[in-house]
Amino acid sequence: AQRADELGQLAEAFNHLAAQLGAAEEARAQWVADTSHELRTPIFNIQGYVLTLLDGVKDQKVRKDYLKKASRNVERMIRLVQDMDVLARLESNQLVLQKEAYSLTEQIEDALEQMSDRIAQQELTVVRDFDPESDCAVYADPERMDQVVLNLISNAIKYSRDESGGFVRVAIEDSGDKTYNVIIEDNGLGISKEDLGRVFERFYRGDRSRTRTKKIGGTGLGLAIVKHIVEAHGHAIKVTSTQGVGTAFSFTISKAQPLAVS
Ligand code: ADP
Repeated sequence: AQRADELGQLAEAFNHLAAQLGAAEEARAQWVADTSHELRTPIFNIQGYVLTLLDGVKDQKVRKDYLKKASRNVERMIRLVQDMDVLARLESNQLVLQKEAYSLTEQIEDALEQMSDRIAQQELTVVRDFDPESDCAVYADPERMDQVVLNLISNAIKYSRDESGGFVRVAIEDSGDKTYNVIIEDNGLGISKEDLGRVFERFYRGDRSRTRTKKIGGTGLGLAIVKHIVEAHGHAIKVTSTQGVGTAFSFTISKAQPLAVS
């Protein structure tokens, strides 16, 4: 009976392993399917322009236009490959976080500064709901968190409405001894109920934005990367949104522990 038990356990262990390998294999296959699907469009676009040019286009202006379009598609592919690389590393835990103590306030101000041209272009108001005088020292990987903050602010700008009165609100809330809660809110297009549960999936793009992607050119990877980074830090990110009203993303981040006074 004991042997049978042992064999049973062994069989169970094998089944478990096989299931795990199966899942990994499936995930790999899904990755390959997703990425080739996403790369197909820009590649075919480029091929189309190049073949037309090869056929001979007389008009100098048209030629330049095709070259520009081809170049834009190359840029899109580069962005895609870069984002996929980051996400693949995050998904396989190959990215080691380099945590240090730094100022969250400064990080947010830097991000807003980097986005200032786009904010001005769209005539958005920035609402700061934090004390600019306070450092808000956090303990996290500043480079990775840059990506989080930039992606969320960039989305708030990207999905704003084409009317005046748009804002991007950034709030830092002190949520106890250990963490800050960061909120990035907009009064833009909002996200439909159906999309809301899926926005963190890789390559997922909301319907509404699909129509605007020509202008926007997103990869659909931004939020997947954001979520991975926040979770790799041991924290969570949430989204609330109402279509036509606006969207708020909020995530937590560890405070830097002050040095013990001895
Ligand atoms: P991308 O912006 O490249 O399409 P993301 O992963 O950053 O990809 O976002 C996924 C989808 O979530 C977007 O296509 C959009 O539909 C929706 N979304 C993200 N942020 C916002 C926002 N602030 N307001 C409205 N929709 C948003």
